[in-house]
Amino acid sequence: MVLAGKKVLVVGMGASGAAAARLCLARGAEVRFTDKATAPPAAAGLAELGATPRLGGHDPADFLWAELIVLSPGVDHRLPEVAAAARNGAEVIGEMELGFRFLRPPAVMITGTNGKSTVTSLIAAMLEAEGLRAFAGGNLGTPLCAYVAGAQDDDWAVLEVSSFQTDTAVSLRPKVGVILNITDDHLDRYDSFEQYAQSKFRLLANQAEGDVAVLCADDPEVAARLGLAPASVWLYGAANDHRPGGRLENQRLALELPGRRLIKLDASRSRLWGGFNKLNILAAGLAAAACGVSAQAMQRAIDEFQPLGHRLALVAERDGVAWYDDSKGTNVGAVQAALEALARPAVLLLGGRDKDGRFALLAPQLAAWARLVICFGEAGASIAGQIEGLAERQVVADLPAAVTLAAQEAKPGDVVLLSPGCASFDAYAGYAMRGDHFRRLVAELN
Ligand code: ADP
Repeated sequence: MVLAGKKVLVVGMGASGAAAARLCLARGAEVRFTDKATAPPAAAGLAELGATPRLGGHDPADFLWAELIVLSPGVDHRLPEVAAAARNGAEVIGEMELGFRFLRPPAVMITGTNGKSTVTSLIAAMLEAEGLRAFAGGNLGTPLCAYVAGAQDDDWAVLEVSSFQTDTAVSLRPKVGVILNITDDHLDRYDSFEQYAQSKFRLLANQAEGDVAVLCADDPEVAARLGLAPASVWLYGAANDHRPGGRLENQRLALELPGRRLIKLDASRSRLWGGFNKLNILAAGLAAAACGVSAQAMQRAIDEFQPLGHRLALVAERDGVAWYDDSKGTNVGAVQAALEALARPAVLLLGGRDKDGRFALLAPQLAAWARLVICFGEAGASIAGQIEGLAERQVVADLPAAVTLAAQEAKPGDVVLLSPGCASFDAYAGYAMRGDHFRRLVAELN
């Protein structure tokens, strides 16, 4: 793609948007950038490089000026100004689509409602255990546009991809594409669940002969859409008839690869615990196998992998009560997985900024494990209303109040689980700050 001389408007100045603007500038484009915020930190220095800032709101004139509009994943692509620009003949793409047009190494791409970061990191660890160089990034860590502006001297690019990134992509073509699961999330940004589910499968739309799609057969919404995968499908799950594909045998994982090659892996030493994580390891193993990683290298990576923070992490044990930080559990599916993995009576802390999650879907897990649900933050009262009759519940103002009440109510043998099922932005800059605050509050209990 030729960017030199092109009029580019970058919308949304998070890390991804800023990386897109820098890439366009480096390739000689005429760049304007816009954000609703007046001083987004990631945009610092862009004006000095020659880009024109339009901050504190969007000017419709910029959208009509642009020949190419690059959207950050945080920006709703249904924005009226974007539609007007498209009618005016502008090309509208997302930051990842732009980066992909310049990407040199073959790509493994991972999407799904939950588990993307974990599986992305584990696949990269497996490739590295094989002695290959792997870049892990995209929706996690380094944006793709920042990566392609550099040397790109890796054997593989392992990219976490969100549905916002597939929505605004046209040419993504992963050599290996992984879809982990599809449950409710971001329904505030989609007209329907079906639209959200379809956008996950857009990841595979350009795959062709020689490419592989690794898909979870145990997820009903993934399994219902297998017809949308145009290339080879490798299924995985509990059943034992997925060939090529993978299955769970308690702590062992069996991968059956083309040519009847069988790989057996042992997940018993992995720090990624819980049933859902066994599926994550299986998905990572199949993707790595499709990249040619050996069984020994996969096993080494499984044994040594350190789970990412704020994902079902034990933070303290006090008076027989175990406290878990699952602050990254920002949707109902993640809360279900956490309660099922712990399988112990729980005081559950739910709340934050709602994304139109359907909390009544927690009914079976609440019936099995919830001693008390403490609802906090902006969405607290709404969540309490949705789970009326499903569990004992109380509403408090914020996370500190929730921790204080949990300490009073938990009994020896219980877990206290912060798996909020909501975004953190009502009170924090991100899930990590919320999780760190939880950890401090627990440490300060006396
Ligand atoms: P993502 O990048 O998709 O948000 P993460 O690996 O960061 O995924 O995990 C996010 C949350 O989802 C955590 O609470 C984690 O425990 C939970 N989780 C991880 N894998 C799965 C899975 N396969 N199914 C359900 N929940 C999962």
